[in-house]
Amino acid sequence: QEVAEAMKALNANIEGRKPHPRPVKSFDQVGMPEDVLEKVKAAGFEGPTPIQAIGWPTALSGRDMVGIAQTGSGKTLAYLLPGIVHIAAQPPLRPGDGPIGLILAPTRELAMQIHSEVMRFTEGTRIRSTAVYGGVPRYGQASDLRRGVEILIATPGRLLDFLESGTTTLKRVTYLNLDEADRMLDMGFEPQIRKVVSQIRPDRQTLMWSATWPKEIQRLARDFCREDPVKLTIGTEEL
Ligand code: ADP
Ligand code: MG
Repeated sequence: QEVAEAMKALNANIEGRKPHPRPVKSFDQVGMPEDVLEKVKAAGFEGPTPIQAIGWPTALSGRDMVGIAQTGSGKTLAYLLPGIVHIAAQPPLRPGDGPIGLILAPTRELAMQIHSEVMRFTEGTRIRSTAVYGGVPRYGQASDLRRGVEILIATPGRLLDFLESGTTTLKRVTYLNLDEADRMLDMGFEPQIRKVVSQIRPDRQTLMWSATWPKEIQRLARDFCREDPVKLTIGTEEL
């Protein structure tokens, strides 16, 4: 009841098995490591955006989810901050381990943009990250991967290159994000995405982010998410 009213106030709709999470009102409720929380506070944000207020407790509950919200609604932090909590709960990386959190993105520009948002909130903490994408030489990206990163942002094609050459593995990935999933499908990346995801353990947590909810995304969500993901829509849903 109370949750239903809060959803209405956030112009949000949530579907999937209950109980639905109570939206959070502040960054303190996410349970982030202190050093990350300080950086979030330093950013001067007034509070979570709607996709964050409901996305955080949903993601933190360990459930798979699909988040649908328009551009500029704060989707990156919606998955990044729970991802940091997730990573902090995992055994540390050992030499040769691949990433724990994987973010797939459609383009180099987007991957770079996500990486700079990730760096903004994790620089100087124990979370290491890098971005791999095409159009630039492989060696710098490869040496980052070999050194080890907790979070990897990648376009599907370049990631497959590195998997085929054995530069990294997805054996440790337990937190998978498909960012701009609709654009990745529009750009024809579905075969590459499926190839990447087939290398990730099936008991992972999967989160998909999109501005629209067309049939193709619905099918991908059915195939990639475990039983009955949470579907969270902010505003009106576009097919
Ligand atoms: P989306 O992926 O939904 O298009 P982004 O994650 O790129 O949105 O965020 C858009 C902008 O909003 C970024 O500059 C980001 O730093 C900023 N932002 C994220 N969360 C908040 C917040 N809670 N309050 C204010 N600004 C935020
Ligand atoms: Mg985004």
